[in-house]
Amino acid sequence: MNIHEYQAKALLKGYGAPVAEGVPIFSADEARDAAAKLPGPLFVVKSQIHAGGRGKGKFTELGEGSKGGVRLAKSVDEVEANAREMLGNTLVTKQTGPAGKQVNRLYIEDGADIDRELYLSLLVDRTVGRPAFVVSTEGGMDIETVAAETPDKILTRAIDPSTGVGDEDVAALSDALKLEGAAREDAKTLFPALYKAFVEKDMALLEVNPLIVMENGHLRVLDAKVSFDGNALFRHDDVKELRDTSEEDEKEIEASKYDLAYVALDGNIGCMVNGAGLAMATMDIIKLYGAEPANFLDVGGGASKEKVTAAFKIITADPSVKGILVNIFGGIMRCDVIAEGVIAAVKEVGLQVPLVVRLEGTNVEIGKKIIDESGLNVISADDLDDAAKKIVAAVQS
Ligand code: GDP
Ligand code: MG
Repeated sequence: MNIHEYQAKALLKGYGAPVAEGVPIFSADEARDAAAKLPGPLFVVKSQIHAGGRGKGKFTELGEGSKGGVRLAKSVDEVEANAREMLGNTLVTKQTGPAGKQVNRLYIEDGADIDRELYLSLLVDRTVGRPAFVVSTEGGMDIETVAAETPDKILTRAIDPSTGVGDEDVAALSDALKLEGAAREDAKTLFPALYKAFVEKDMALLEVNPLIVMENGHLRVLDAKVSFDGNALFRHDDVKELRDTSEEDEKEIEASKYDLAYVALDGNIGCMVNGAGLAMATMDIIKLYGAEPANFLDVGGGASKEKVTAAFKIITADPSVKGILVNIFGGIMRCDVIAEGVIAAVKEVGLQVPLVVRLEGTNVEIGKKIIDESGLNVISADDLDDAAKKIVAAVQS
């Protein structure tokens, strides 16, 4: 689960991290009052969307000459003018995809005088099974580019969870970031504080890009992106409250109501599969035969007919879906339940696109019989390879 920058900053402030004063607003009429609460004379007007690269983004409605989604303003008037231009419009960044995201919230922040922009993140390094800091002197740009072009400018430092962030860790990270004086002092409290927030709140990612050294020599968290481990949300009611479903894919929200493991993707073949591994293999084989999956979907082991129906409806409601592949290996999941769910869903919402079904395993004969007798226009497949070829051919013809 992702949250907005202003929410992440409030959370980190609670752990003692240095962040600027700021006020979130939801309408341009609030802009003046918000700015008046801040010291000035420099303000920053920041679009709050669940995507990065806002500074270099463009608003669709403002055309090619559009200024970005993060803007400096030198007066309360300028803050208001920018807020009016940004709120309600669609911001397209490297991370939003071409459709962009509507900006419904702004964060009005006290502007900082920047000396250097650094990169810092915390994530779980699966190769060593520990939380790790990733830092670089090349802040403000996207870290993927730094990793590709100048990987030597990135330091990854795993933290021993039994001891937490030690003096040696802080020193190594500070050296890599070339921190001196006040900034080096600040790091001694900031790095352990960020680590504490990361672990206590079950974050999957905490990215500060940029972490800045200000002209006065101190550190400040200038941007903050936080995502939480969805499997741990049950123990963080405070975090759950920060959810902004308007930022999420509607199909994913619907799927989460039924506890379905669903991820929307860009392709045109809808997939209904049981088991995460088989779902991944299904996506791979669709790609192998030259098409793209429209989603990842694992209906799970003991899915009910209702759950299967819901899943099928979510797939068919996606206008980019031009064909559907149902691939079930019935172990715990029974093929007849899948067949009944598919038919119930088709009865409700109809079937406008080709449907290939591959069933194998428990109750396969009953499942096939249910589908055969339903009168549905289903293309049946013998195995995964056959199924993938058939759905790709059906979609491409
Ligand atoms: P992103 O583009 O979505 O990553 O948004 P950021 O919050 O990282 O802001 C983008 C860029 O705007 C930063 O890298 C800075 O260069 C600039 N910026 C943001 N806040 C300030 C500020 O307080 N003062 C100054 N001078 N620049 C800022
Ligand atoms: Mg940033």
